[in-house]
Amino acid sequence: MEITEIRIKLMDAKESNNERLQAFCSITFDNMFVIRDLKIIEGAKGSFVAMPSRKLTDRCPECSCKNHLRARYCNQCGTRLNEDRAVRDADGRIKLHADIAHPINSACREFVQNAIIKAFHEEQEKAKQPGYVCRYDEIDAGDYDDYEQVINSLDRRSEPYRRHPGHDNRSGHRHANTSEPSSERSFGAGILD
Ligand SMILES: [Zn+2]
Repeated sequence: MEITEIRIKLMDAKESNNERLQAFCSITFDNMFVIRDLKIIEGAKGSFVAMPSRKLTDRCPECSCKNHLRARYCNQCGTRLNEDRAVRDADGRIKLHADIAHPINSACREFVQNAIIKAFHEEQEKAKQPGYVCRYDEIDAGDYDDYEQVINSLDRRSEPYRRHPGHDNRSGHRHANTSEPSSERSFGAGILD
């Protein structure tokens, strides 16, 4: 299996509502299969890649409507729901999301992640050039609001971060030459060896 293309959409904190969401990306295998909506997230040991995921839901015991596992009351009928109903992993963390597509062994995970992080750093360099154009389809950028939960559930060392309310212009697409000092954070340690 060969990775034949990686497209990166760099995020800045203003755009993403979350400083730690560094980029979205899509990855193409063998020129014939593409997976979108992967995320590059700044973790305590450097950037890491999060697979596309969906929120887990379960059904209300009263009306059978689907609710997110964090919902305390049914969206449909208002029945009080058991707050402890979500499945916990071996570390006792609540499992709220499930990966839609993902590697099934660590060798593949490293292969994919290393390629994406490398492409991410290259994209950051490209973005400094005049006339830079992002090749990630804007339509695939997803719902940013979801990522706070995804990030929290993925990163065990959940460091505090600031929210940036009031930036709801999701179509903003300015990348070129706007890199601020905040983009000089160090990442990649432990991942890029
Ligand atoms: Zn209900």
